[in-house]
Amino acid sequence: MNECIFCKIVNKEIPALVLYEDEKTLAFLDVNPRFEGHTIVIPRTHAEKLTDLSDEEVMHLFKVVKHISKHLEEVFDTDSFNIGSNNGESAGQVVKHLHIHIFPRPKDSEKKYGFEAAFPVNEEAKNKLQETLSKIGNIEPLSFSSEKPKPKPQPKKEEKPKDDWYFDEEIY
Ligand code: 5GP
Ligand code: ZN
Repeated sequence: MNECIFCKIVNKEIPALVLYEDEKTLAFLDVNPRFEGHTIVIPRTHAEKLTDLSDEEVMHLFKVVKHISKHLEEVFDTDSFNIGSNNGESAGQVVKHLHIHIFPRPKDSEKKYGFEAAFPVNEEAKNKLQETLSKIGNIEPLSFSSEKPKPKPQPKKEEKPKDDWYFDEEIY
């Protein structure tokens, strides 16, 4: 039996104040709101972390997060919100069903703090930024184009190949 509390909300086994749903996503008010309108957006199918979703599922989820954030901005007459997601036990994830928090932030509030309130600057990490960059190394670039790269036209035997580069006389 699935004991996941958010799966239970998806399956309507326990109630939630749902503000948006579609075939892949559900959004409801957090039962312990940090700000008025604090919303939780989840994929309907159980996945623990963002890295467990397919690219298509991530795309859908974040489109919905944007859509709801925009709506909340209008409803709460504000231009500010935070989004966040705890992924994994060491990151403080309590409910092990991936969820994105949206916190609408009241306009002109005294409390303009962001994540620094929870995560103050780590001096040790600050002193080794270069080392950290090397440790992270190269991240393979993603390809976002569905088009296959066009093959370079091959010059006919008798034709002189055209130069790829030319110099604009007005500039050089
Ligand atoms: P996290 O895993 O991101 O640390 O926190 C889980 C969030 O889910 C918390 O903000 C908590 O208030 C919320 N939450 C936990 N159980 C329920 C529930 O049964 N219903 C709703 N609406 N929110 C819940
Ligand atoms: Zn679940």
